[in-house]
Amino acid sequence: MKKIAIIGSGLSGLTLAKWLKTDFEVTVFEKARGAGGRLATRREENFQFDHGAQYFTARTDAFKRFLEPFLDNGVVQQWAPKHVQINGTEIEHENHWAREEPRYVGVPGMNSVAKQLAQNIQIEVNTKITSLLRHDKWQLTDEDGKIYENYDWVISTLPAPQAIELLPPEFDSYQQIKNIEMSGCFSLMLGFDKALPMKFEAAHISNSDLSWLAVNSHKPGRQNLFTLMIHSSEAYAANNMDANRELVMQHLIQKTSEIIGYDANEAVHKTIHGWRYANNVVRASHPAFIDRDMNLGACGDWCVGGRVEGAFTSAFNLFNALKMNTA
Ligand SMILES: Cc1cc2nc3c(=O)[nH]c(=O)nc-3n(C[C@H](O)[C@H](O)[C@H](O)COP(=O)(O)OP(=O)(O)OC[C@H]3O[C@@H](n4cnc5c(N)ncnc54)[C@H](O)[C@@H]3O)c2cc1C
Repeated sequence: MKKIAIIGSGLSGLTLAKWLKTDFEVTVFEKARGAGGRLATRREENFQFDHGAQYFTARTDAFKRFLEPFLDNGVVQQWAPKHVQINGTEIEHENHWAREEPRYVGVPGMNSVAKQLAQNIQIEVNTKITSLLRHDKWQLTDEDGKIYENYDWVISTLPAPQAIELLPPEFDSYQQIKNIEMSGCFSLMLGFDKALPMKFEAAHISNSDLSWLAVNSHKPGRQNLFTLMIHSSEAYAANNMDANRELVMQHLIQKTSEIIGYDANEAVHKTIHGWRYANNVVRASHPAFIDRDMNLGACGDWCVGGRVEGAFTSAFNLFNALKMNTA
């Protein structure tokens, strides 16, 4: 059986691995200690937060079909919070998510989808790949200098700016990928010892240093402890990614208080996470990036729209391109 290395265990990497393992000996390399990437859930002091993707939609038939078993076993469920649009600090209008296209979440956490996908896949966690070298076959080296060799194919599923650090300049889509920009985001996680009287459970926010504010504990299957998940705006993250994190956290807490009308500093748990590459700056749509002479490919949400469904679709496109190549 031919050997394939997939770098990254987000939704795109895991989906590809699941499909490819009938025809390839697949190894997934992941720098973090667990699978899921930006489908992320953090559990701290009895609080639980989805600090990456908040929810997702399913618009293509392929993604709808893919979700069916997850919906059947409850690992994916619909979330219909009271959703409002906020301008500055004022609620402008309420949307009716329960009556619109379904918004889905992983249950009990966003990373539950990844956990289920990761079953029966060989994943080398805590393994940051730092270089790729090809003689006859591919050789991968991790940050500790450990070598993994004899791979016929390598696929990167990393965010574009991280992929470009690994991919060789001879890769025929190198320049295209190099031009893809991704924006950052701060995720502020607040846990409370009592529920707050909220006018909404989820809000998109404009004209503010915040872009999203949700009652994380309102999602189905979460623990009962009351939690808020707040995202900064892209612009705020771009200007403050390297600033003192305590100051960033205090600023975002202050902005949160102004919106909810309650001193968010009274949270008994406060953490902040900075995502350097959260979303695409431009929602582009590219075909699969595959170089058939080099046996090298790249995919990820940034190829197709930059969301959870885009991560799936990019993996789907790459899988089909690879199937044509190896048929
Ligand atoms: C704060 C935030 C909010 C979001 N909100 C939404 C939302 O509401 N709805 C929505 O649809 N989408 C949302 N998204 C986007 C969504 O999370 C992504 O589109 C999707 O999860 C990307 O999946 P992926 O497999 O393409 O990449 P990733 O999940 O980023 O997977 C890449 C993996 O590669 C690993 N990695 C990186 N470098 C290396 C290396 N050198 N060696 C080994 N491993 C490496 C990473 O650790 C990661 O696990 C959000 C993202 C963020 C950050």
